[in-house]
Amino acid sequence: MQVKILITDPISEILINKLTKYNIKIDYRPDISKEELQKIIYDYDVIVVRSRTRVDKELIEKGKKLKVIARAGIGVDNIDTEEAEKRNIRVVYAPGTSTDSAAELTIGLMIAAARNLYNAINLAKTGVFKKIEGVELAGKTIGIIGFGRIGSKVATVANALGMKVLAYDILDIKERALKMGAEPCTLDDMLPRADIITLHVTVGKETKYILDREQFEKMKNNVIIVNTSRAAVVNGKILLEFIRKGKIFAYATDVFWNEPPKEEWEYELLRHERVIVTPHIGAQTKEAQDRVAEVTAQNLINVMKE
Ligand code: NAD
Repeated sequence: MQVKILITDPISEILINKLTKYNIKIDYRPDISKEELQKIIYDYDVIVVRSRTRVDKELIEKGKKLKVIARAGIGVDNIDTEEAEKRNIRVVYAPGTSTDSAAELTIGLMIAAARNLYNAINLAKTGVFKKIEGVELAGKTIGIIGFGRIGSKVATVANALGMKVLAYDILDIKERALKMGAEPCTLDDMLPRADIITLHVTVGKETKYILDREQFEKMKNNVIIVNTSRAAVVNGKILLEFIRKGKIFAYATDVFWNEPPKEEWEYELLRHERVIVTPHIGAQTKEAQDRVAEVTAQNLINVMKE
């Protein structure tokens, strides 16, 4: 029987090319609206998404034939995995495919924040050559929350920049951290010591608001916070309060609570001169996109062979 696959977000042609030799019908609809998707999902065995498409309970219920939900990337927070499990729908994803890209963007955001690059570049482009002062990273302490693939890669680069590295994770990372020149510690120990805090945890119920009022209060004055994981790990309204108070030197983020923002407090953050925002481009490199397409295609081939 022919398998019908619906792709609802932009993805490298490698995915389609790798699947063409199989008995598969692929519909590539990267701009499909939520309403249209709800109308046609009943007809597909597989849906392939990135982060734009929300595969919620309502959509899963309408997908009467759905057997597989493939996330071309890491982070399945846009998929109702509990509902999928209830209905015996497999969820496959592609961890590790964007580790280098996301780590490199993290370092970029950290340097942009430390040197106030966003404002310096914007002024220079208008012909104003103002000597904006920043801070040096060498000799500073970076606290890495979530010492997995991306967090570890950031640690390697931070070491090379001459930074002291603190690492916190819920898993026992002691041996691995020490081997990589990082000091394993608790979150409470890290917060008052770190000049820069960078977030690399997985997203889930336990990591929601890992940075909340209590944590912001414990941080050093003029801390730089970098977030390339997911916005939900930070309490945004409390963050705004601490930015207004002048406690935070910069918040540099690739992820937002709503993408694009919807709420007024989100717009205030977005426009604040101490906030640097990129539009969720952590995995948006040619290399990472090709890799994610390869792995997603292989995931689908593996599932079909089972
Ligand atoms: P990973 O699974 O390798 O590492 C995540 C780490 O977080 C693990 O070591 C895990 O033990 C730890 N962790 C989980 N819950 C924790 C908690 N409560 N406290 C402390 N540590 C906790 O994941 P990764 O590949 O390094 O990705 C990290 C994050 O980056 C994910 O949230 C992912 O969605 C995000 N990401 C974003 C982009 C982007 O485009 N901005 C690209 C890739 C990945």
